Amino acid sequence: MNGHYAIAIDGPSGAGKSSMAKRLAEAFSFLYVDTGAIYRTLGLACHRAGIDRKDVPQVMALLETLDIAIRYNGQGEQCMILNGEDVSREIRLPEISICASDVSSHQEVRSFLLEMQRRFARENSVVMDGRDIGTVVLPEAELKIFLTASPEARARRRLAELLAKGTEAGFEEVLQDINYRDEQDSRRAAAPLRRAEDAVEVDSSELSAEETFALLCELVIKRLAAVPEETR
Ligand code: C5P
Repeated sequence: MNGHYAIAIDGPSGAGKSSMAKRLAEAFSFLYVDTGAIYRTLGLACHRAGIDRKDVPQVMALLETLDIAIRYNGQGEQCMILNGEDVSREIRLPEISICASDVSSHQEVRSFLLEMQRRFARENSVVMDGRDIGTVVLPEAELKIFLTASPEARARRRLAELLAKGTEAGFEEVLQDINYRDEQDSRRAAAPLRRAEDAVEVDSSELSAEETFALLCELVIKRLAAVPEETR
């Protein structure tokens, strides 16, 4: 109970979590926190430094020297700052997705980044998306949503997003990336991707973005109206 609400959105890669979370945050005037961007920033730093991402001591040694910060620009967009440089675009490259998934599989890395994520929810009402928000980061969230879609539907959407941003990519490459990350994110020992018991599962494979958004808005309105006064 800190006077703020938290909405956790988890699910596999490309299920539309970030676009839905962003829109919900805007609609309800909450802060949007994209936790994948934090892992991506570390993945990028490892990639640049050319270190072995599976080697925990090497990754941790690098992490301790990094200055990773989140800033919000004038449009309320989350920007990732790595040692003073805005890397928000670069972290979206497909090869960095794989780096992010690799580094995020280490418990040491996750523990190191946990407090940074929780601080946002202590200080703001948030819509936070990731893989372990409902299970680990914000287990007390007022609403937990597990957003899924078939791998093909997710690959199609991710490809359209990349192309719209001017990043070259092909369907097969994007689908492979999604399958690799699904497998790795679900099988890892540290905070694997799984639906929290009290999360509402939404499968958006057959839904348009508008239909999904309308469904999620309904869930938020119902749930927040049901939060007892004394626990707000
Ligand atoms: O959400 P996004 O695709 O940007 O995340 C990149 C990678 O970061 C994921 O594949 C996942 O391995 C990792 N991640 C995580 N826990 C989170 C958010 C992202 O392990 N809360």
